[in-house]
Amino acid sequence: MTEVVLDAVNKVYPDGFHAVRDVSLRIPDGELFVLLGPSGCGKSTLLRMVAGLEEITSGDLWLGGKYANNLAPRERDLAMVFQSGALYPHRDVRGNIAFPLEIAGDDSPAAQERIVELSRALGIEETLHRSPSTLSGGQRQRVAMGRALIREPGIFLMDEPLSNLDAGLRTELRMEIGSLVRSLGVTTLYVTHDQTEALTLADRVGIMRQGVLQDVGTPQQVYDDPATMFVGAFLSTPPLNLVRAYVWADQEPGIVLGLGNQRLVLPWTDPRSPALVSRHGSYVTIGFRADALRPAADGVLSGRVRALEFHGSEWLAYAEAGLPHVDAEAPYENAPPPVHEQEPDRNGEGMLRRILRTTGIIAEEAAAERVAHDGTHRRSDVVFRLQSRSGVTVGDVVRLAVDTDRILLFGEDGRRVDPVRR
Ligand code: ATP
Repeated sequence: MTEVVLDAVNKVYPDGFHAVRDVSLRIPDGELFVLLGPSGCGKSTLLRMVAGLEEITSGDLWLGGKYANNLAPRERDLAMVFQSGALYPHRDVRGNIAFPLEIAGDDSPAAQERIVELSRALGIEETLHRSPSTLSGGQRQRVAMGRALIREPGIFLMDEPLSNLDAGLRTELRMEIGSLVRSLGVTTLYVTHDQTEALTLADRVGIMRQGVLQDVGTPQQVYDDPATMFVGAFLSTPPLNLVRAYVWADQEPGIVLGLGNQRLVLPWTDPRSPALVSRHGSYVTIGFRADALRPAADGVLSGRVRALEFHGSEWLAYAEAGLPHVDAEAPYENAPPPVHEQEPDRNGEGMLRRILRTTGIIAEEAAAERVAHDGTHRRSDVVFRLQSRSGVTVGDVVRLAVDTDRILLFGEDGRRVDPVRR
């Protein structure tokens, strides 16, 4: 049994930066758990604490039922693969994979047989005699995985192992990693910033933002039923439509959500109505994905198509609907600052930022950046899918039906107002 348990784990770096905040998590034996989040959210720090490469500031770590905070990395029965799986350049592929066995003094025929079996499973059997310098990036990562797995560790840690590979190789190797670690039954913690990688690979996925674990569940759970606005937006391509809604819960025929000058009605029988009744007379944010909307003559929303994008199997339409758009970062703007308590002057950048902030320029810069990131999804637009162009052209006013079962409701703190099913 090699389950991984973290209990209220924190990491504060010596310069005061609080990189991981109160993370509690249980990864059962044999699970493939993916830690997902944007750059700098603390996922590598968390992985490195599990590996014993980074000290835990507070909280407890248990590996295979053993208290592990103070165990040295080699006492943790784990193996790791990083972004660029560095190999020993003067050893051939077999020598690289065999290295941990040599250290352990195991030159048994069974061990030699295991090298061949593992290299076969990794698709590198033909390269066993070759030097690392003659291998492609994908082959090198396979060798690094072989070297990590040859001693059958209890825990396998991977930090962005595919990010240096091109898209085609990433997809191929992703599938192979999934089937290999599942067939070996090794408990795996895999770190990535890539949503597709996380959703396609994981048994369960944990999503981090600024050191805080926001949500944990199966890929389908966190996608369909995200615990926070950040998770919903982070997992959505195209962007999640986020709209501010005023709640009226004292009218027939149901709960009325006022979206600017448009409205949606949820019947009283809707399971979310109790959560909304308690918010009568206040605002919530509703989130709906592009595929929760479809053009329909009797649709309840309407908008003028501003842009159409061809995406191969479908079209995306962007419409001006005059809806009060909510920025996915809005609820987090007042959260405790996840910045260095004393911002260090790295090459003078700290000073520059301070000058920009005091002159007010940085706030504008941040807003401009957000607009730029939104691309064609300009504020107050609504994005929806079309199976085909189906006669819709730019400038048309379309009516949109909303699949109300699939709208998500968030409170001011960015958390769901209705119960999240896990
Ligand atoms: P990425 O994918 O870019 O590596 P990440 O989510 O893995 O991002 P971490 O490497 O865990 O992020 O870093 C989390 C935060 O901690 C970052 O803001 C980083 O700058 C900061 N950090 C990392 N190492 C140190 C350190 N030794 N001292 C101070 N801050 C650090």
